[in-house]
Amino acid sequence: MTQAKSPATAKPAKRSVKSAQVRKKAPSVDNPGKVLKRSRYTKAETYEIFQRFHADNPEPEGELDYINAYTLLVAVLLSAQATDVGVNRATKHLFQIADTPEKMVALGEDKVREEIRTIGLFKTKAKNVILMSEQLIRDHGGEVPEDREALEKLPGVGRKTANVVLNIFFGHPTIAVDTHLFRLGNRIGIAPGKTPIDVEKSMEKAVPKEFSLHAHHWLILHGRYICKARKPECKRCVIYDLCKSPEKEKFDAVPDIAVRAKAIIEREKASSC
Ligand code: SF4
Repeated sequence: MTQAKSPATAKPAKRSVKSAQVRKKAPSVDNPGKVLKRSRYTKAETYEIFQRFHADNPEPEGELDYINAYTLLVAVLLSAQATDVGVNRATKHLFQIADTPEKMVALGEDKVREEIRTIGLFKTKAKNVILMSEQLIRDHGGEVPEDREALEKLPGVGRKTANVVLNIFFGHPTIAVDTHLFRLGNRIGIAPGKTPIDVEKSMEKAVPKEFSLHAHHWLILHGRYICKARKPECKRCVIYDLCKSPEKEKFDAVPDIAVRAKAIIEREKASSC
């Protein structure tokens, strides 16, 4: 007669491979994880990464709606912890009635709060929009200054907001590190850093000069739509075969989008010879 194993001696049931696989948490500003000392890519590889972004989308654009430098500044200020779609929905009417600091101040904090009530942190943001507008009128004649230091002195405007305005409106090659850029810099290891400013500095060093104006947009769009926080969509990735992230999904074939971008680069090379 075979004796039944007592619970104490029975082997624990094997966990399925799937349940044992715990997806590594994507790096975030609060949890950067183990930060690399330097980029995983050579200069030539980094150059090719940006060539691919360029081949795929030669003129990338931001997704916030604005009319002038002032409304761009307001839109970026409102976009903290909110989606661009949500901000556009709220500013559609606001910018029709107030597209200058003078008109915004005349509108008043209560009305601004009412206009933007669908956006997170709307009370603080409405207050900052009015304070910022008053300061623009007082210190800059109602104009948005093309100067980082002056921008950062405005209420509600931090380094990231200043970088976005300098890049999009004034055409400076700045890199605004938001949550997507921070994750991307660390996840794929192109610009590792423990803090947003570390990633900004690494990114500035890594990005080849000829791509520096659009780098910010390419990286944000890539992080927002492809290399997403919870699950990167490697099958739709234009830099799939170049990516050295340990989180990259393994496929037998290079995705079409990457093959197409490579072909564009080859054609451009051939025609410039
Ligand atoms: S291959 Fe995957 S992990 Fe690498 S950049 Fe593309 S989406 Fe991100």
